[in-house]
Amino acid sequence: MKCEGCGIEIQSSDPKMAGYIPEEVLKERIENNEKVVCQRCFKLKHYNYLMPIKIESDFSGELDRILTNFNTILWIVDVIDFEGTFRSEIAEKLKGKDVILVVNKVDLLPRSTSYSQLKEWLINRLKLSSLNIPSDNIVIASSKTGLGIGKTKQLLSRISEKKALILGVTNVGKSSFLNKLTSKDVTVSAFVGTTLELLKTEIPDLGIEVYDTPGIFTNDRLCDFFDIFSQVKMVPSKKINTKTHTIAKGNVLFISSLFWVDVVENGVRGLPPITTIFLPEGISTHRAKRERVSELLYNRKVLYPPYDDKFDFGKIEFEKVKVRVDKGNDIAIAGAGWFSVKRGPLIAEISKPKQLKFCIRQSMK
Ligand code: GDP
Repeated sequence: MKCEGCGIEIQSSDPKMAGYIPEEVLKERIENNEKVVCQRCFKLKHYNYLMPIKIESDFSGELDRILTNFNTILWIVDVIDFEGTFRSEIAEKLKGKDVILVVNKVDLLPRSTSYSQLKEWLINRLKLSSLNIPSDNIVIASSKTGLGIGKTKQLLSRISEKKALILGVTNVGKSSFLNKLTSKDVTVSAFVGTTLELLKTEIPDLGIEVYDTPGIFTNDRLCDFFDIFSQVKMVPSKKINTKTHTIAKGNVLFISSLFWVDVVENGVRGLPPITTIFLPEGISTHRAKRERVSELLYNRKVLYPPYDDKFDFGKIEFEKVKVRVDKGNDIAIAGAGWFSVKRGPLIAEISKPKQLKFCIRQSMK
């Protein structure tokens, strides 16, 4: 059976895939002889809301086709979760395009952050990517304060084709940024050969059309292990509070209940490593002695998320990874934040879900 809105095959097994409709709704529609439309088309039609979609599945081909209609792409990423949102599978698709990289949510960085140092850090970080983004196309932004809106408009005013596509994974602030940038008057549009519909908005003073795409789902960020209500609690709402810890051999540093760092050796001259943690207020950190690991994992009260006792840890496959992190580097955890090594090296064994992505990078300034 096909969706009467977009023509995609209807299915009730995977809510993250195209064509999804809950089984009971499907039954009811058929019984009542009503039009069957997928959940995405339903929400788009009634709420002007684009449902997120998985990039590795059905969306990938659709995105490729849509991209052939655009030269200019506004790619929104989250500065707090740069490694989880500046994704190589998206970068790969944007090769050859004129990409404006909007690094959003900088209002959440500590007060001491220098934006010029951040820009320098971003320029260096982008050198590791296969995508070539000119440094002038990096916009330090906050959809909360409006920072970066002027610069984005200035960059867009130079484009000749008068239209741009906006992209980003879920929760980076794509909708909030778009709201600040454009008029709220939206229409739904499709492109030849695509079933996926986009929201068309306009920047009135520039006469430029901006097309919004569905947010892209990921499966390797910390937030991806939790339900949507927990995810909301994990989104930072105020400036990141940094915490500095000395973690000696035999200490374990927990970041939520899914990621912990067991220090196996002290650093130079036998001195224990010092780390500074940058995390949203809804993600706990806890330093403990190694002997307490099982007790803490069993009685998770101080470790959150999860925020409730019903969370099923049994469904998660964990792994241990040995790391050595020198002073001046960070461990960034996708979907969470990062901690930087101030005195090192940090020689440790990390325990985490296999699927959860982390990386060691030069410290974010
Ligand atoms: P989308 O899924 O990418 O469209 O993201 P939304 O625009 O829905 O934003 C996700 C969450 O991040 C919401 O709670 C927003 O209030 C918040 N948010 C978005 N942009 C910013 C920002 O620049 N600063 C802060 N502090 N929060 C933001």
